[in-house]
Amino acid sequence: MAKFIVNTGPEKEVHRTAYTVAACKISEISKENRIDTDEDYTVKYPAVYDGCGHCYKEKHRK
Ligand SMILES: [Zn+2]
Repeated sequence: MAKFIVNTGPEKEVHRTAYTVAACKISEISKENRIDTDEDYTVKYPAVYDGCGHCYKEKHRK
């Protein structure tokens, strides 16, 4: 299991796979907009990606 689920759609959000909750609405992320990865996109692309307010609060800014 990848550590992160990245929503590459307009929301540009990073979820932590092990901590996701229903409010993350992972099932609503379309295949085209989803990347499962061990790379933290909030670190790789800090100007673009934001942590999810439900499962990655310490990186949630918007
Ligand atoms: Zn989340």
